[in-house]
Amino acid sequence: MKISKRAQDVPPSATLAVTALAQQLKAKGMDVIGFGAGEPDFDTPDYIKEAAIKALKAGKTKYTAESGITELKVAIANKLEKENGLKYTPEQVIVNIGGKHSVYEAMQAVLDPGDEVILPAPYWVTYPETIKLAGATARVIQTDKSNNYKITPSLLKKAITKKTAMLVLNSPNNPGGFTYTPQELKDIAKALEGTKVIVLSDEIYEKLIYGDTRFVSFASLSEDAYNRTLTLNGLSKTFSMTGWRLGYTAGPLDVIKAMGRLQSHMTSNPITFGQYAAIAALTNPVADETIEKMRAEFERRGKYMSERLNSIEGVECPEPTGAFYCFPDVSSHYGRSIKGTKINGSMDFAKVLLEQANVALVPGLPFGCDYNVRLSFACSLENITKGLDRLEKWLGQ
Ligand code: PMP
Repeated sequence: MKISKRAQDVPPSATLAVTALAQQLKAKGMDVIGFGAGEPDFDTPDYIKEAAIKALKAGKTKYTAESGITELKVAIANKLEKENGLKYTPEQVIVNIGGKHSVYEAMQAVLDPGDEVILPAPYWVTYPETIKLAGATARVIQTDKSNNYKITPSLLKKAITKKTAMLVLNSPNNPGGFTYTPQELKDIAKALEGTKVIVLSDEIYEKLIYGDTRFVSFASLSEDAYNRTLTLNGLSKTFSMTGWRLGYTAGPLDVIKAMGRLQSHMTSNPITFGQYAAIAALTNPVADETIEKMRAEFERRGKYMSERLNSIEGVECPEPTGAFYCFPDVSSHYGRSIKGTKINGSMDFAKVLLEQANVALVPGLPFGCDYNVRLSFACSLENITKGLDRLEKWLGQ
């Protein structure tokens, strides 16, 4: 059957592909250590599961308003006010089918063919595709270790053209594991003043921050920032709820309404009993304690992983300040041959490492940074130790 040009132009997700390949090899009996995971390795907390069961038993099994039930939108608006200093009415909030859907739908709601979207690299693999699907063009700002993988106001100003419609900001960052400081974000907000650029602020990793890192929501920085920002978040990472598919977007009423119109034809409401579980997730008094346990464990692993990576010759890895990824620069090994196979870039690095040492990580190229590779520390410390021992031995040959 004919495949549309739109669908032909979209490659499969590189991160999901690595996980699938590692699983295939495992199924064949190979002892593979996987660093591909983009999801917490903890189970969803019981109090959230129980809320879903209770909702199911109470018959919460029918359609709801397409943008989500009012009680959940109220809970999200309260969370955004209390934790992020953001005043949104419940009507300015839409619940989406996962954060990925929030990104897609937000772009569909505000972008037109011919628009440019500024995309700092490293970027999450989904952004370039959702930009393309909205008919817009990504204008990538390349960063690297010399600027800590972050854009600066001057890099940003240089990238703005008459066609610029949006800037995608993702802090804490996937795949970079870095977090913009409040001052860096303020400087970016200032640089945007006087422009029409919409900011898509993807804050899905907000709770996973380490050391003395502080998180601020971009929209909270000034009235100007508030008015130009779509704040995007979700329950996947914070509450270990990746399979529940619950994300949300808050922003100017007209945009949220436009997203609602699109959603009413694309998917209708997010799963009904899941919405009740989301209310529990956000409002139960045990939430903070539950999140803290997971956060602290990620912090321990991230510290260990980055220290070990840095101790390997030719590997440079900043200590992660957020999310659950290390994103080392391994480019000093490019051009070498390991056991007779030449490593020419991150794709070779990942492939040959998997074949020769049974360690699965994600190449940096699909994230826009071929010098790097991504290792997730959403796996046990035991696996991290074993996998890094193998990586060290492999590179030491
Ligand atoms: N934004 C970023 C930066 C992510 O890494 C992810 C998950 N990989 C998402 C959004 C979407 O998460 P979900 O669709 O599971 O809510």
